[in-house]
Amino acid sequence: MAIKVIKEKCVGCGACVTVCPADAINMIDKKAIITDKCIACGACINKCPVEAIFKEEGNKGGVNIDEYRGVWVFAEQREGKTLNVVRELLGEGRKIADELETELTAVLLGHNIEDEANLLIKYGADKVIYANHELLGVYTTDGYAKVIYDLIQERKPEIMLIGATNIGRDLGPRLSAKVHTGLTADCTRLDVDKENRRLMMTRPAFGGNLMATILCPNHRPQMSTVRPGVMEKAKIDENREGIVQVVKPELKDSDIKAKVIETVKSDKPVVALEEAPIIVSGGRGLGGEEGFKLIEDLAEKLGGVVGASRATVDSQWIEQSHQVGQTGKTVRPGLYVACGISGAIQHLAGMQDSKCIVAINKDPNAPIFEVADYGIVGDLYEVIPELIQALDNVDDIMEAVKALSNE
Ligand SMILES: Cc1cc2nc3c(=O)[nH]c(=O)nc-3n(C[C@H](O)[C@H](O)[C@H](O)COP(=O)(O)OP(=O)(O)OC[C@H]3O[C@@H](n4cnc5c(N)ncnc54)[C@H](O)[C@@H]3O)c2cc1C
Repeated sequence: MAIKVIKEKCVGCGACVTVCPADAINMIDKKAIITDKCIACGACINKCPVEAIFKEEGNKGGVNIDEYRGVWVFAEQREGKTLNVVRELLGEGRKIADELETELTAVLLGHNIEDEANLLIKYGADKVIYANHELLGVYTTDGYAKVIYDLIQERKPEIMLIGATNIGRDLGPRLSAKVHTGLTADCTRLDVDKENRRLMMTRPAFGGNLMATILCPNHRPQMSTVRPGVMEKAKIDENREGIVQVVKPELKDSDIKAKVIETVKSDKPVVALEEAPIIVSGGRGLGGEEGFKLIEDLAEKLGGVVGASRATVDSQWIEQSHQVGQTGKTVRPGLYVACGISGAIQHLAGMQDSKCIVAINKDPNAPIFEVADYGIVGDLYEVIPELIQALDNVDDIMEAVKALSNE
């Protein structure tokens, strides 16, 4: 939906220029000219005293979807290194591309990071479009949206997957509005209707009480931001070969309105929940902040990290960065120990794909036991110290078990 000027009506008053938030209107020969910086907000339409500006309705029936082919993955990088979620998207993108018998392309924007581009091939991409430009080293909404928009217009992918990180959640909607296509945010599952080449994008809705599967039948690309930690990571194959196409995008300083002056990293310790092979989580059953000391002891004994339910975060017993669940982190460790956690659907949404779940809860009917591989019904203040003690003696126990099995 483009904004257009009826030249004959324009009186050259410049009112639209002053109201435009994107600095997208030039006055040439006393006529307003709308440039490609336009974000189609429509502010100029209301301001024009002579009704010379209007919004052109797009093709409501959609685009010619047969012109669009291929699956794209946005290869988000920070300081030149692509994120883990990119490997997850490549894993999922590979499956989708194979099903649709099409190409998987990674789209990498950055500056002088050739090695990273080559690595994406080894993780499953057939092709990498690597846009190399000094203005793309650091993420900016305008810069990234412009470059990817131009690429989409030129090459017409049918599917575009973006990690639902802070950057991905910013970029996705800006891009989809620019391209005028549909975006499903924060998906936790993707399937393909092969016959119609439709992506079935599933995400939790209404506080996680409903899983909505959303389609984008008439517009392309079908865009989805995908929650980090949910999809399985692609495995590296050192021998994989593909094509890296380096492009030098048309990008000027003036295309980017927001300037990044400095990036400051939080000095809070990073809780690498998504990467942890073992997580010990505490819930409201701990009864208070001090209960997390016991959780930390067990986590330390197991070599894991501490997770938490939202109830404990809301009660300010622990930092939000520890929260597991729909509005926290999605994890799939080898071992997840849920202590005093009831198993609300919003918590389960973030941990039910863990390989092995152990639940400790004094209520035998707690829903957490429905997903647990092993359950202990009891007071966590009695159970956990006993577990820690058993772990202290694990060598002796293993010896005893071996001796038994040899008998
Ligand atoms: C939109 C939305 C998003 C949400 N996102 C999240 C999210 O990301 N993550 C999340 O966790 N929640 C989330 N929630 C909240 C969620 O609905 C639950 O309220 C929350 O998970 C409950 O936390 P809990 O299990 O610690 O507490 P409770 O539900 O109060 O459960 C405490 C459990 O501890 C047991 N217990 C009590 N004392 C002991 C003891 N001494 N020993 C052993 N067991 C004991 C009890 O039997 C009970 O089962 C969200 C809610 C909404 C509406």
